[in-house]
Amino acid sequence: MIRLFVSADLKAASSFPLDEKQSHYLKHVMRQNDGDDILVFNGRDGEWQGTLAITKKNVAFTAQTQTRAQVNEGLLTLLFAPIKSNHGNMTIEKASELGASAIYPIITERTVVTRVPTDRYEAIAIEAAEQCERLSVPKIHEAQKLEVLLKNWNEHKHILLCAEAGEATPIAAALASMNMPSLAVLIGPEGGFTDKEFSMLRTLPFVTPVTLGPRILRADTAAISALSIIQALKQ
Ligand code: SAH
Repeated sequence: MIRLFVSADLKAASSFPLDEKQSHYLKHVMRQNDGDDILVFNGRDGEWQGTLAITKKNVAFTAQTQTRAQVNEGLLTLLFAPIKSNHGNMTIEKASELGASAIYPIITERTVVTRVPTDRYEAIAIEAAEQCERLSVPKIHEAQKLEVLLKNWNEHKHILLCAEAGEATPIAAALASMNMPSLAVLIGPEGGFTDKEFSMLRTLPFVTPVTLGPRILRADTAAISALSIIQALKQ
């Protein structure tokens, strides 16, 4: 059954028009008919099954039954330095499928990307959340410098620094010794972290350097690898 992310509140019999893009998708791409049922979720009220009212002008949805209660999916954060071209898209999609609830594009000394396409990332995150049957969409934050992010960081959220060099604990061992439900993964840019960044990061009490294995992974591979391991061992 088709599953769409909506912003409207969801409760029994709540009824609202879908936006232009979703109406077009339902009518002309998915060829839905008046009276067909779809699933919707909004990140707050769980998942609801309801009925489409399709007219020439617009498509409206009326909620009938709640199919799934809302659960808090907000425990896993990805901090990543976007690498050039559209690899960022894949990282956003895979992080969404792997349960990231917040994604921070970060600018490090060797990050080559200047403008981060936040709205494109948001659209990718919504589509991935619809497809993988999540009940919330990861929040995509505006890009910010690593130092700024760390200055304002909530120390209760431990950061696993994926360190391609230097002293680091195998990630599975690090996770086994942690009982923090709320974790963040930090992935560097194609050029890696500078020595200055590594030494700054290694002094922070809420940062644990971890290794993902003996090979140097591409940044997007490292993000997928770290998130998959956390999901497999912690969720
Ligand atoms: N250009 C660097 C590699 C950067 S890889 C070099 O040649 O050394 C991009 C990012 O992926 C790294 O900053 C790190 O966060 C992550 N990464 C890659 N391989 C890793 C590994 N084996 N263990 C932990 N993190 C890794």
